[in-house]
Amino acid sequence: MPSQHSMACDIVVFGGTGDLALRKLLPALYYLHRDNHLHPQTRILALARARHETTAYVQLVQRHVSQYVAQGDFDQNSWEGFAQRLDYMSLDVSQRVEFPRLAKALGGQSDRARVFYLATVPSLFAATAKHLASVGLTDGRSRIVLEKPLGESLKTANQINDGIGAVFDEARVFRIDHYLGKEAVQNLLALRFGNALFEPLWRNAHIDHVQISVMETVGVENRGDYYDHAGAMRDMVQNHLLQLLCLVAMEAPVHFEPEAVRNEKLKILEALRPITGMDVQDSTVRGQYSNGERAGEKLPAYYFEKSVDHDSNTETYVALKVEVDNWRWAGVPFYLRTGKALAQRKSEIVIQFKSVPYRLFGGIDQPACNRLVIRLQPDESISLSLMAKTPGRGMALQKVELDLNFAEAFKRRRWDAYERLLLDVIEGDATLFMRRDEIEAAWRWVDPVIQGWQDCYRSPKRYAAGSWGPEAADSLLDRLGHAWLDER
Ligand code: NAP
Repeated sequence: MPSQHSMACDIVVFGGTGDLALRKLLPALYYLHRDNHLHPQTRILALARARHETTAYVQLVQRHVSQYVAQGDFDQNSWEGFAQRLDYMSLDVSQRVEFPRLAKALGGQSDRARVFYLATVPSLFAATAKHLASVGLTDGRSRIVLEKPLGESLKTANQINDGIGAVFDEARVFRIDHYLGKEAVQNLLALRFGNALFEPLWRNAHIDHVQISVMETVGVENRGDYYDHAGAMRDMVQNHLLQLLCLVAMEAPVHFEPEAVRNEKLKILEALRPITGMDVQDSTVRGQYSNGERAGEKLPAYYFEKSVDHDSNTETYVALKVEVDNWRWAGVPFYLRTGKALAQRKSEIVIQFKSVPYRLFGGIDQPACNRLVIRLQPDESISLSLMAKTPGRGMALQKVELDLNFAEAFKRRRWDAYERLLLDVIEGDATLFMRRDEIEAAWRWVDPVIQGWQDCYRSPKRYAAGSWGPEAADSLLDRLGHAWLDER
């Protein structure tokens, strides 16, 4: 079958034995292979320090792919074709002397693009790039994909970006934020810029406030070591939540092309009102989960989790009131929250429109009723709530929902975000990837909040694992007469 791609490529996955590679990247590549999106000559080379024979590595990948693709999607014929593309090499990226072996393995194919996917800790990124350059693997055919988190502050992000930028020009650097690869997130753009209906309303004259929530039921699982150094602000807010805010708030780009889209997102990041000094106490809440329970099951406190410091002050929950200081959004609060060990798993964006200016139908108090909810997890859907007349006598109103569930509307299989994004990298399309100046602007805004927390010496507010988060997060909205829109 002819491939849909013009160019074969070598996809080199650094960290090929890690959780991300085995659980996300290789299953995504399997799907791309199965659905004929990879050129027949495309090869996948996985690298890590552990010593594996290629056959043992292929078996390891098979176990994971068959576990992580949807039931019924693992097809033996497709798998065998995919396995032919796979190879493994033991290599320590911190050792320059090991790179000539990699150059040799990739050498001699002048017609191929190369994708270097760095699924390793970011502290190895700059050295990896430098060592790739030392063996001539960073010419114009090569692209590099960087996983989050990109640094722990503006300073450390700059160190990483400087190291990468010394070797790869910006157009060949793909900083991945997998939220941008989600269909529902791209549908937010389709909804805003592919319909004439919402755009005139998409502003402070009509929108009361916006809520962006990324809530998890799981705790830190096996990532305690990383998480205890990062916390929710660095792990989630600096990247995923600010990126979602950008897509909600940005102006229409001139073209749907990388620079045009990223220019508009950058303008929003630059328009975020800084939260500094005393404002940190007023506009932010940070929390940490303590012992709790869900459905009768006891849940441990954060400080009892594996590899977490018993005296840890790391936040596992953040809620923020954010203002976007521009003509369109002045006066509209954007409430952001994210946390672990919460009552419900959901990621959603809620656009709450203003109330009607005058209550024509009397009766019970009619709360602000028009609400657009873009749900990213667990299912992907868009719903719009409207007021309608209750059948029967009189003019009693009730809220009804217009629901678009993507799984039902489009019967085809939903792509995982990594499939879409990997294909974009192979095709060299950086529209859904973060540019360096976006990363810098996000850190410039986030750093003073973290500094403010450190300066006040207050511990994070406790919340019971399995609950909806600290009470202070409810008070944050209550002050302006708002409430988190949960079905508690
Ligand atoms: P992980 O499970 O600890 O895997 C790390 C991988 O890097 C392993 O394959 C490890 O294999 C390899 N590695 C470590 N040091 C190396 C070295 N010096 N040379 C070559 N390979 C080396 O971590 P992960 O969860 O996959 O995460 C990888 C990165 O992606 C992290 O930065 C993480 O924050 C980010 N990320 C992960 C997820 C996720 O869902 N897991 C999501 C978003 C972002 P050896 O020890 O055998 O070398």
